[in-house]
Amino acid sequence: MGFQGPVWPVNPKYTDVLSAPCYPTLADLPQAPDVTALCVGRAQVLPSLHLLAKRGGRAAVIYDSGFAEVGGEGKRMQDEITGLCREASISICGPNCMGVLNPQGRSTTFKQTVRSMTGLAGNVGLVSQSGSICGTMLADLRRFGFSTVISCGNEAVVSAAAYIEHLVADPHTKVIVAFLESVRQPEQFVAALDRAADCGKPVVVLKVGRSERTRNAITSHTGGLAGESRVFSEVLRAHRAIEVGDLDELTEVVAACQSARWPKGAGINVLTTSGGQAELILDVATSCGIELTPVTPETRDRVECDVGQITGDGNPLDAWGNGDARTNMPRALAALDANPGTDVVVFCSSDSTDNQPLGRAGRELEYADILVNAAKGSDKPHYMMTMRPGVLHNGQIEALRTAGVGVISGSRQGLGALLKLGRWQAQRPQPRRTGRHGAQLPAGRRIISEFEAKTLLASWGVPVTREHLVQTAAEALAAARDLHFPVVLKVVSDAIPHKSEHGLVRVGLSEDDQLRAALADMQDKVVSLGCPIDGWLVQEMIGDGIEVFAGVSQDPQFGPMLAFGMGGVAIDLLQDFALRQLPLRDGDAAAMIGEVRGAALLGAYRGKPAADIPALVECLLALADFATVHADQIAEIDLNPIKVRSEGRGCVLVDALIVCRDPA
Ligand code: ADP
Ligand code: MG
Repeated sequence: MGFQGPVWPVNPKYTDVLSAPCYPTLADLPQAPDVTALCVGRAQVLPSLHLLAKRGGRAAVIYDSGFAEVGGEGKRMQDEITGLCREASISICGPNCMGVLNPQGRSTTFKQTVRSMTGLAGNVGLVSQSGSICGTMLADLRRFGFSTVISCGNEAVVSAAAYIEHLVADPHTKVIVAFLESVRQPEQFVAALDRAADCGKPVVVLKVGRSERTRNAITSHTGGLAGESRVFSEVLRAHRAIEVGDLDELTEVVAACQSARWPKGAGINVLTTSGGQAELILDVATSCGIELTPVTPETRDRVECDVGQITGDGNPLDAWGNGDARTNMPRALAALDANPGTDVVVFCSSDSTDNQPLGRAGRELEYADILVNAAKGSDKPHYMMTMRPGVLHNGQIEALRTAGVGVISGSRQGLGALLKLGRWQAQRPQPRRTGRHGAQLPAGRRIISEFEAKTLLASWGVPVTREHLVQTAAEALAAARDLHFPVVLKVVSDAIPHKSEHGLVRVGLSEDDQLRAALADMQDKVVSLGCPIDGWLVQEMIGDGIEVFAGVSQDPQFGPMLAFGMGGVAIDLLQDFALRQLPLRDGDAAAMIGEVRGAALLGAYRGKPAADIPALVECLLALADFATVHADQIAEIDLNPIKVRSEGRGCVLVDALIVCRDPA
C-alpha cells in the first residue's frame, strides 16, 4: 500500500521475516509500536497484551474469536482484556474482527491481502460488526472508494459509536456507513449520530438481528407493543441517520453521495429514452412510495414544443421524440432543470456494460457527455441511473464521476436512495421547545390510577372528563346530579389497573336507580376481589368521538418512546401504531397521526365530519411534555381511550394509567 513507517515482525521462531529483522517478543521491539496486529490464537492474547502494555503499545487488533460471543470462559477472557486495556490505555479493535483498512493513510491491519490500490481510496467510512460485510463492500469499487474500513467485531474496548465519532471528525470521510447487529453504547451512539448530522455527514445504517430483541420493546397493557426494530428505526430518524434495509439500498445511498451536489428535497424528475421504461419506472416508484410528481403544464408545453409530443404526464419523461438524442436530450434536460419542484434530475437510458455485444459503440459516452453538459449549467444535482442494480458501464461511470455527476443503479434502489438523501437534506428536525409546566409526579408510588393520573395530566394541559371521587351511594347520586345523567361509574384503586376486566366500569347510567344498582353490584365484586379501594368515580359520559390510544414506555437502550394508535383495535396484532423517541421533534405529533392507517377514520367520510385533529395534536404534545419532564420516574403511561370529537369540539381523555419505575 506504500506504507512509509517501519513494520516489525514478532515471532520467537524466526530471526527475520521478508528480510526484516524479527523480534522474539513484543517486549523486545526497538520502540513502542503505534499499532499491533495480534495474529495469535485466543490463549496467547492476554499474555501478548501484558507484554505490549510493558513496551508502551497503545493500540492493537485482536482477530481471533471465542470471546464474549461464546459466553462462559470466552466472556471472562474478554472482560479481562477490557480491564487490562482500560488500565493501560490500549485501544483495541475486536476481538473477533478483521481489523482496520486505511487506504487514505496507506496503512492496514485488515486481514485480507491488498492486491491493488486502484480505486480503493475514497470518501466512504465504513464501520461493520461483520468482517465479511467489509469484504463484500470492498469488492466493488466502481463508484466509490473508502476512507477507512473498520471491522469492529466484539468491541471489547472501542465501540462502533466511537468509530463513528472518529469518522465524523475525519476530513477524508464524506459519508459514514454502519453495519450493526447491536448497539453497545446507546448514549454515545446517538450523540455520534447527532454530531454527524450537525456536520452534514450522513450516517447510513443497516441493522440486522432485529427480531431477536423484539421482546424488549415498548409495552403497554395491550401486551408487547413494538418490536425493537421499530424503536431503533425511530431512534435513527430522531437522530437524523439514514436507515437502509439491505446492501443494495445501502450501496445506492453511498453512490448517490458521490455526486458533487446532493438533492435538497424529494422532487425527483426522471428522463428516459423509452416509453416502456418510463412506464416501468413509474410503476416501480409508485409501488415503493416514491412519488414522481408530474411536470407543470408550462414544462410540458416547453418539452412538446422543443422535442415533440410526449406520452404520460412528463415524469418520467420519455424524450426520445424523433430519435435525435443530441438535440432532444439537452432540451428535455434543460426543461426538467427549470421545472418548479424539481430537486434532482435523473437520466435513465437502456442498461449497458463494458462488453455488451450489441449497439453503437460510444453511445454510453455520448449520453454521459449530454448529462455532464446539462449538469454544468445547473445548480441542481444530476444523476445517471441504470434500470437494474449493479449493471454498469465503467467507461461511462468514469466520465460522469470526474464531472461530479453521480451514478445510481436500479430504479427501486436508485430512486429510493435519492429520496432518502433528499429527505435527509431537507429535514433538520430540532427537539421541540416547550414552556409547558404542570404538577409533579408524586414520589414513592408504583401505580397511579385513573383519577390521580388524569388530575396530574390535566395540569399539563390534557383535557379530561369531569368527574367526582365519591365514597357512598348518596355522594354518587349528588355527583351524578352535578354532572347530569348519563354518567359512568368506575372503581378507583391502584390495585385494579384494568377495571373493565373485572366488570368495574359501567357506562351509560341514566338515572338514580341504575346508578345505585351499579354501585351495589360493584361493591360486591370488590369484596370478592379483596382489593383495597380509594372509592368510586362518577364521571361524565362522553357519548360521541372516536377512541384513540396514546402511551409512553421505556426502551431499555434508548429511553422514553411515545406511541399513538387507534383505540379498540388489537394494536399488537395489527402493528398499526406510530412511534417516536422523546423529546419530540417539531412536526412529530401531527406526522404520527398521519402514519397510522386506521387514523383515516378521523377524517371526514360519508357525511360524517372530520375529527378534531389539532386538538389531538395538542393532547399528544401535552402528554409528551409531561413524559419528557418525568422521564426518569416513568416506566409506562397508558391513555386509553382518548375520545376525539368532531372538528372544533376537542378531545377528552377518558382513562389513564401511570406506572412508575421502581425507585430502587
Ligand atoms: P379500563 O381500566 O378497563 O381500561 P376504561 O376507563 O378505559 O377502563 O373503560 C373501559 C371502556 O369504557 C373505555 O375503553 C371506553 O370505551 C368506555 N368508557 C369509559 N369511560 C367512559 C366515559 N366517561 N365516556 C364514554 N365511554 C367511556
Ligand atoms: Mg382503558
